[in-house]
Amino acid sequence: MKVLVINAGSSSLKYQLFDMPGGEVLAKGLCECIAIEGGSITHKRPGKENYKVSVQLDDHETALSWVLKLLTDPELGVIADISEIDAVGHRVAHGGEKLKQSCLIDDEVIKYLYSIVKINPLHGPPAIAGMEGCRKLMKEVPMVGVFDTSFHSTMPEHAYIYPIPYELYEEKGIRRYGFHGTSHRYVANRVAELMGKNIEDLKIITCHLGNGSSITAIDGGKVVDTSMGFTPQEGILMGTRSGTVDPTILTYLMGEGMTAKEVEQMLNKKSGLLGVSGISSDSRAVCDAAAEGHKRAQLALRIQCYGIKKYIGSYIAAMNGLDALVFTAGIGENDRDLRREVCRNMDYFGIAIDEQLNETLPRGSEADLSAADARVRTWLVPTDEEFMIAKDTAKLASSVK
Ligand code: AMP
Repeated sequence: MKVLVINAGSSSLKYQLFDMPGGEVLAKGLCECIAIEGGSITHKRPGKENYKVSVQLDDHETALSWVLKLLTDPELGVIADISEIDAVGHRVAHGGEKLKQSCLIDDEVIKYLYSIVKINPLHGPPAIAGMEGCRKLMKEVPMVGVFDTSFHSTMPEHAYIYPIPYELYEEKGIRRYGFHGTSHRYVANRVAELMGKNIEDLKIITCHLGNGSSITAIDGGKVVDTSMGFTPQEGILMGTRSGTVDPTILTYLMGEGMTAKEVEQMLNKKSGLLGVSGISSDSRAVCDAAAEGHKRAQLALRIQCYGIKKYIGSYIAAMNGLDALVFTAGIGENDRDLRREVCRNMDYFGIAIDEQLNETLPRGSEADLSAADARVRTWLVPTDEEFMIAKDTAKLASSVK
C-alpha cells in the first residue's frame, strides 16, 4: 500500500511517499516559500541525486499539484500514475477536544478543524488547505488526519485544567492540549519494543528536544502530563520560545507600552536560546559559542538543561517512578553534551549514562545509553513522526477499502 504523508506549514509543505507496511520511503521532499516570493521544491529519492526546482507556489494546492507531478514524472518520479497512491495521511498540529485519535477525514472533520482555528491560528489553516488541495487533486483517495494533540488526550483533568476560572475552559477551551504527540507516541512505543517489554508495564519520560521542545510522562502507555500547554509556548526554553514564564511579566510589559502582539512576538520569536544567548536559535551555533567561552551562550544552555532536569524530576514524582528516559529530535538525538549534562547528578533517581558510549555513538543511532548499574534505562531513539502517520493512515484506509 502506498501512503503519501503531507505536513503542511504556513509557507511550506513536506511530503513523503511510503510503501507500507514495511515503511520504505520511496520519495520525499519539501516545498518552500508557498504564497511568497522565491518558491522552490527539493525532491529526494533514496540512492539518487536530489532535484531542486525554483517555481512560483501560489498556494498549497499548487504545491501539491507539483508534488504529484514530480512523483509521477517519467524521470524523477517513483510511481507511474497518481492512482497508485492508496491513501494520504495529514499531519495536523491540533485536534482540539474532539479528535482524540487519528481518523478518516470527512466534511465533519474539516468543519470541526475550521471551528478550532481560533485556538490554532498558525497551523490550522495550512493543514486544512493541504486537505482541501488533496481532495481536489485526488478525489477518491482516502485521507487520514493524525493529530499532534491526540496522544495527550489521556491526561487526567488535574494535569490539563489550568488553575484559572473554570468557565475559561468550558467557554473558550483553555486547557493544556500538549503537542509533538506523534513523536512522543512513536518513541515511547519504540523504546518499549527495544526493551522487549509491554508499554502497559512501563513508566516512560520522553524528551522531544528540537527547535520546539516538549517533555511527556507516559505511564502504562497513557500520557499523564506533558510540558507544552494551551499552545506550544509552555514548558522548557526552546529555540526562539521562552517556555514557561511568570505571566505577570507580560502584563507588566504591556503596562510599559508594549502591545499584545509585540509581547507575543517577543515570547515566541525572540526568546529561548536566541533571546538569552543573543547569538542564534540554532543550538549548534549556541553550543559553538559556548565552547569558545561566550557567557550568555553558556547561560542559555544551562537554563535549557536545568529546565529539562526539573521536568524529569516532577514527572518522576507524578508517576512515582521511572523505567525509561528517552531523548529524541534534533537536539536530543545529536547533542551529546546536553544529554550528559541533563543526566549528571541524577543518581538519586537511578539515572546514569555510560559517558563514553554517549560520546562515541554515531548520529542517528538507537541506543541504550545507561550506565551498567543504572536503575533507569536512558535511551536515544531517533523520532519518525512521518512513519507513525503512514502507519495510522494505512490502518484506517484499509478499513474503508
Ligand atoms: P528539530 O526541530 O528536531 O529539527 O531540531 C533542530 C535543532 O536541533 C536545532 O537547534 C539544531 O541546531 C539542533 N541540532 C541538530 N544537530 C545538532 C548537533 N549535532 N548538535 C547540537 N544540536 C543539533
